[in-house]
Amino acid sequence: MATTGNSPVSPRHATSGSRRICRACVLSESPPDIWLGESGLCNICVEWEQAGAQAVEGRTLLETDLTRIIVKHRGKQKYDCLVMCSGGKDSTAALYQIVRRYRMNPLAFTFNHGFVPDEHVEIVRNVVRALGVDWLYFDTSSMHEMFRAIVRSRSGTIICPICSLWYMNTTYEIAARYRIPLIVSGWTKGQTTGSSRSAMTTCACNQTSQEHQSMAAATKAFMRDVKKSLPAYRDFPSDMEAVLRIARKRHKTKAVALSPHWFLPIDTAEFIETIKDEVNWSYPEFSYPRKTTNCDLNFLSSWLALRDYGFSHYHIELSNLIRRDLMTRDEALQMLDASFIDEAFMEPTLKKLGLGVEDLAPGPPRSLKG
Ligand SMILES: [Zn+2]
Repeated sequence: MATTGNSPVSPRHATSGSRRICRACVLSESPPDIWLGESGLCNICVEWEQAGAQAVEGRTLLETDLTRIIVKHRGKQKYDCLVMCSGGKDSTAALYQIVRRYRMNPLAFTFNHGFVPDEHVEIVRNVVRALGVDWLYFDTSSMHEMFRAIVRSRSGTIICPICSLWYMNTTYEIAARYRIPLIVSGWTKGQTTGSSRSAMTTCACNQTSQEHQSMAAATKAFMRDVKKSLPAYRDFPSDMEAVLRIARKRHKTKAVALSPHWFLPIDTAEFIETIKDEVNWSYPEFSYPRKTTNCDLNFLSSWLALRDYGFSHYHIELSNLIRRDLMTRDEALQMLDASFIDEAFMEPTLKKLGLGVEDLAPGPPRSLKG
């Protein structure tokens, strides 16, 4: 661990502009989770280098691992798999491969928590039409009170992981309802759980690594408050383990969640051209990180993460890709430029939540109600 020479400070008392960034990945110094040693490398990169080729090899999944799972599940139910489709390049490529490469019959589905731009929904509509697959579209405002509470609380809680809990919980519920044995997402190699064993049993929203420690602790404390203060979310899963537990016990499903991208040695640029040509996919006009497809709430979530920690979960994901030589540091830095996200830019999203830019002002933690 590269933990010499610096004294711990609260991550919420520094601005991202004043933080040093690791010279190998894109993580900012953010004690107590991320430390930069005298070499300019962060503790995560140092550990990665020390683990060496053996550890990297242990994390490699092969296409034969994927085909074994596919053969086991194909043709047993009406739908072979449930494909989570945001309209982004990664989930579109996953759906494309499931249909064209593996000849499976998927149910594509898209969730809209009220902040998915119409443009993204239209992209998915085009794709499912081009591939000729059934599509389930789900639109709800049921999470608004939770999102509002996150912003108001000033607790260091990040919106996206909480949204993922809701999203995955609902995904398992739908898989159970349609008796679908396999859940397919467009999670990248930067979003793997780290080993072939866990890839087969859990989803990629892993919050247990060193980089996530402070964010995860804040989320845990927030979820405890939510259950006490907001009755609508009393049964809401507190973490991904709870999602899996509910899936097994309440929804009675053993569906396996995975991403084809974990198994395939395909370059991102290669499949972008394919889905552009073959299923009418296109980049949305505006997104964060750049060249991705994320909802409007994601701008606010990323801004809060940068304010509170100096990095977001995208910095963690892209740093993983850099360490695996799947992206250059310069590419990642360009994608992660958040200079265009200011308070005025976020105002329409805040307004939808019944909040204003004054709710972004620093200050002591606040009650969840209101
Ligand atoms: Zn690093």
